[in-house]
Amino acid sequence: MSDSVTARRTLTGFAGIDSPAAWRVNASAPRPERLDLPVETLPGVGPAVRRKLARLGIATVGDVLAHRPHRYESAAEERTIAALFGEEEAVLDVVVRRASGRRRGRLHILTAHVGDATGEIRATWFNQPWLEGRLVPGTRLRIRGKPNRYGFQVAAYDVGGAAETADFAPVYPSTADLAQKTLRGLTEAALAFARDAGEPLPAEVREASALPLRADALVRLHRPRSEGDAERARRRLALDELLVLQLALRRRAAEREVLVAEALPPPAELVVRYREALPFRLTGGQEEAIDDIDADLARTTPMQRLLQGDVGSGKTAVALYALLRAVEGGRQGALMAPTETLAEQHFATIEGLCAQLGVRVALLTSSLGARDRRAAHQVVASGDVGIAVGTHALIQRDVDFADLAVAVVDEQHRFGVEQRSALAEGRSPHVLHMTATPIPRTLALTVYGDLAVSEIAAPPADRKPIVTAWVGEERSAEAYERLRRHLDDGRQAYVVCPLVEGSETTIARAAEDEAERLRTHELRGYRVGCVHGRLRTAERRAAMTAFKEGEIDVLVATTVIEVGVDVPNATIMIVQEADRFGLAQLHQLRGRVGRGADQSYCLLVSRHRDELSETAVERLEAMVATTDGFELAERDLELRGEGHLVGARQSGLTDLRFTRLRADRDLLERAKELAAELDGEPFLDDRVERLLGEAEHVGES
Ligand code: ADP
Ligand code: MG
Repeated sequence: MSDSVTARRTLTGFAGIDSPAAWRVNASAPRPERLDLPVETLPGVGPAVRRKLARLGIATVGDVLAHRPHRYESAAEERTIAALFGEEEAVLDVVVRRASGRRRGRLHILTAHVGDATGEIRATWFNQPWLEGRLVPGTRLRIRGKPNRYGFQVAAYDVGGAAETADFAPVYPSTADLAQKTLRGLTEAALAFARDAGEPLPAEVREASALPLRADALVRLHRPRSEGDAERARRRLALDELLVLQLALRRRAAEREVLVAEALPPPAELVVRYREALPFRLTGGQEEAIDDIDADLARTTPMQRLLQGDVGSGKTAVALYALLRAVEGGRQGALMAPTETLAEQHFATIEGLCAQLGVRVALLTSSLGARDRRAAHQVVASGDVGIAVGTHALIQRDVDFADLAVAVVDEQHRFGVEQRSALAEGRSPHVLHMTATPIPRTLALTVYGDLAVSEIAAPPADRKPIVTAWVGEERSAEAYERLRRHLDDGRQAYVVCPLVEGSETTIARAAEDEAERLRTHELRGYRVGCVHGRLRTAERRAAMTAFKEGEIDVLVATTVIEVGVDVPNATIMIVQEADRFGLAQLHQLRGRVGRGADQSYCLLVSRHRDELSETAVERLEAMVATTDGFELAERDLELRGEGHLVGARQSGLTDLRFTRLRADRDLLERAKELAAELDGEPFLDDRVERLLGEAEHVGES
């Protein structure tokens, strides 16, 4: 059996790093801690490259190794100049005869006469002026590209060696300002650390499934000999990460096993009155979720349920039901939101209904004065208040409940077992997690493997799908003209500012500047407000109220409006530099319009598509193509890899870097079996601890 492993290994040979002989000599001591070395350890990484890498989530050598190519270049024939054919892509091995560069407008054209034994051809490069100095006569060069009527248009080149021009050269997810060449160079350097990852799978397991060594898999992921080679490598790495994930989920489940909750009595009179007080009938999806919750609350194991539903699907009504179940059982409920704004909005929604039902609700925010806060804490602690609403941080850190039975956690990380104040006398509350980031079911079952999932699949009313258009920057004037027409009809609008990097203060200043610019240009004569994360609570509240009451026509905003803001009269949104936003983020932003009965519009403005990265173009096209959150989430999965989904991040268990869930269902099964077999392996223990440790940090920021 080990034969096949060895045989496959000899196939790997990559630039000497993986020669089997060298392998055996050094096979003794992996040092996993070396993978935590900062990217600056690798040659050529200074502060500028480090920042660009950070944007891709790459901070360490290990991150570089885990940055999976999303595709590979195809194989191109190696030819002589005389044998070039039509416009077929080819690789040439040539020597530089002479080279010169010139400019035409913004374009830099570098031309080199290059030759081999069979002839000479004129090769051209665009916009790479720095290359001129390297193309001195006599330099040996490999170029890959296509012949055309001017000569040979170079797509990739290597001076010595064959990385860029190699068949199946990796193509990495990247940003516009980070070249593939840089990423390829980095992975090449990082592969020297491949063995430090160690080998998590016991030999018997590896041999039984003819799996390559982990280190070999890393090499072949980045430097495959064929597509099949790359795919085998990816699946080996995927199995590792799914195994660790399954072990982590087992551990969490085991930890919860020992917890007990009090079963709540069956639904009674209060929730009947609640249904009557609601201004609408609950949808089928809401009713099903409620049934699931009722079943959970009847048990003495704490509920751990995820309620999934797209923006506007009506999760709040379900959440309030669960909270009222606690109250009618003579106990308390808590609703936790990720931001103050959202907590305030939840409070506003809930308070009115609860007043009709005779249930007291307290709002706990950090903007309460010391005395008010003390008073609020006191009534929560005494049990005078049935439901407390606040931010996660606040409720988890500061508040002692008299008798918390149900906690609802909106849009944030998991409510772990570490929230001690909620665990008075060893009792755990029933917990309902809510997310508006649609997660494909396969992914939900994987990352939320220890949670039960309820899904509200369809929105309540027959709302009109938002019309989305992608507008080139050169036509942004038309976009604003359209927006003004809505304003003139008495409607309201959002303008989302470009995503800038920097501190909250930098972002806020950019937003203020943009609002000011719009006031004197595109939106002159209209009432323009501005919200961002640096406003004081009172200022933010004033701006939101003014917008809600129609005293402001246009709200210029940063992504702080992403969640929860609900103004049905706003019917149009312009997102500036939309190519810089992630798909999930764009979907959330777009959810701010289309909340009333009128047709709403979302205009995504960006630079010309030729200037955008491949994935940016695909994101914007996806936004135009569909308003379905689940479909977009699937698309996001394809474009970014499962680990980067916002929803996955919320679960705390984020790092699915190699897995492609839809293709890897069998691996998920295998990982579950293996997890049962290998639970408690000290080596794996370490990785599991790490994963769970990272999970605890999510949401602490
Ligand atoms: P989300 O799932 O995004 O939190 P909300 O709970 O805020 O959605 O609900 C969105 C809007 O839909 C609210 O204005 C809410 O009152 C309304 N709504 C919720 N359930 C229903 C329903 N069954 N029928 C009609 N409107 C509903
Ligand atoms: Mg909501």
